Amino acid sequence: MVGVDQVLEKLSTVIDPDLKKDIVSMGMIKDLELNDNNLKFTLELTTPACPFNVEIEDDVRKAIGELKELKNFDMKVTAKVMEGRSLDADTSMATVKNIIGVASGKGGVGKSTVSLNLALALQQTGAKVGLLDADIYGPSIPLMLGMKSGHMEVEDNKLQPAKYNGLQVVSFGFFAEQSHQAAIYRGPIISGILKQFLVDTNWSDLDYLIVDLPPGTGDIPLTLAQTIPITGILVVTTPQDVASNVAVKAISMFEKLNVPIIGVVENMSHFICPSCNDKHYIFGDGGAQKISEQFKIPFLGEIPLNSGIMSGSDLGKPIMITSPDSPSAIAFRTSAKNIAAQCSILAAKMQDEMKSAETPEDTPKTN
Ligand code: ADP
Repeated sequence: MVGVDQVLEKLSTVIDPDLKKDIVSMGMIKDLELNDNNLKFTLELTTPACPFNVEIEDDVRKAIGELKELKNFDMKVTAKVMEGRSLDADTSMATVKNIIGVASGKGGVGKSTVSLNLALALQQTGAKVGLLDADIYGPSIPLMLGMKSGHMEVEDNKLQPAKYNGLQVVSFGFFAEQSHQAAIYRGPIISGILKQFLVDTNWSDLDYLIVDLPPGTGDIPLTLAQTIPITGILVVTTPQDVASNVAVKAISMFEKLNVPIIGVVENMSHFICPSCNDKHYIFGDGGAQKISEQFKIPFLGEIPLNSGIMSGSDLGKPIMITSPDSPSAIAFRTSAKNIAAQCSILAAKMQDEMKSAETPEDTPKTN
């Protein structure tokens, strides 16, 4: 007769490729039932966007397959996104498990386009996602979603995010009256608006909140880094941007502020020839990869240059919705999975740090 210890021993040989830890010690096995050689459990992945979900599931089946005496084996696969920020330290946004700031060295690199399509790609995996357009000086998300002003309402002193296919969206662009004045706002006012959007919004149970920051290293990125605990910063570059070194300045600022850098995504990285499907690196090859090596931060993906991305944005029709099978959408999906995996890695690191911070004095003495 197979025992629970044998099952757990087999399962502990399965290693999560991202977290580099076995699935039993990571608490991914839930509701295990073993009766008369009939085995049943739930495999709970750390994100529905896990890039290795098929691999982990296969490894589990292989490991359990080695227990020849088992009569039946039933596995349910679910996902529960890990908290990549200390919710204990931040009661003001307790319903948001991960906050990802999207930054760039300069404007026009496609930071908003990438933020929006990544948010949609994460959502399509089954995660609950919000998008905060924090580019208060030039909010572009409403236009990219084809949403006009007046979508956000205030209830019980809290902003209710607008909804786009289930995506929760907040943007200064929804306040048409005020948004044209944004250019005159400075320091404390701008920081105050961002804080309100973060804290005084009724975000309902988000796995990931994507914050589209204005380019550069001004008041808004600084406020985000200093106001609330965030999971980390995603840096968007283009090949030209890398050449002019502007992305490096943004990375250096966040590193100085001790904010984790989730990684770098290169946008408009290459052109895929529609007739031969070959990739052409028009503006040079391997720029973001160099940044990733220089700063030892993960390289998370490259998005092709595609006229459909631009025309779709202008018409309020994001490519993740209109052409989900296009090479561009596939590239966004790959990047989104890599980002989710990095968030799980940062979350696991945070859990470890919290555990090791529990001093021996806190543990009750046994004798
Ligand atoms: P940022 O937020 O960095 O200022 P935007 O997201 O507004 O940049 O993008 C700038 C312009 O580039 C927009 O017209 C957008 O549609 C276009 N664009 C962004 N990414 C791509 C891409 N991969 N292929 C083609 N056009 C793109």
